Amino acid sequence: MFFRVAFFLVCLITPFFTSCSQVEKVKGSSETLSLSSKQSHKKIFAPLVVLDPGHGGFDIGAKRANVEEKKLALKTASLVKHYLTRKGYRVILTRSRDTFIPLKKRISIANKTKSRLFVSLHYNAHTSPKPKGIEIYYYDKGAVWRAKASKKLAESVLKHLIKRTKGVSRGVRKGNFHVIREANMPSILIEGGFITNPRERKQLQDPKYLRQIARSIAEGIDRYFKP
Ligand SMILES: [Zn+2]
Repeated sequence: MFFRVAFFLVCLITPFFTSCSQVEKVKGSSETLSLSSKQSHKKIFAPLVVLDPGHGGFDIGAKRANVEEKKLALKTASLVKHYLTRKGYRVILTRSRDTFIPLKKRISIANKTKSRLFVSLHYNAHTSPKPKGIEIYYYDKGAVWRAKASKKLAESVLKHLIKRTKGVSRGVRKGNFHVIREANMPSILIEGGFITNPRERKQLQDPKYLRQIARSIAEGIDRYFKP
């Protein structure tokens, strides 16, 4: 009885971040303690990646036949988050709903959280229905280490995207977009296919294909960290 009362008191005074069930486990086994401390260590030091689904709210982005870029970008980002989290990464989305977020705000989320990478997700459009394929942009000016790392990340992600989707590669390209220019960390902007190309538009409406895109982006990011 004394031990039960004592344990109850320990529960009351234990700080919020340690649950009573954890205290109980720690009392029972030192192995459990080392395992849980290893897990929290992994959680704290897992690389943080900021994913940026382009557009949102009144800013629809590209649109053809009821397919909207802002919706595709958000679906893709949520799936990439799922795959990256499964691989042990920490992930923040600049938007998780259909809302408009200014470009400055998007990049300040990445800079303030000191994320390791910034990845902006978009889909392409053209006045002609012919153009197709995937292209990835990086900013080649500013700090040399960042430009190099961004290029390496772009190449890794594009390689995995083309391998898995069997799509057309339009290559890694230099770009001067606000979000990739103002990031303090390596950053890329992915154009995952043309909404204006009938074949690619059909593919992008298939949840299976979108999962392939997301999975290869996560693989490309993972390979960047573990060459
Ligand atoms: Zn866009």
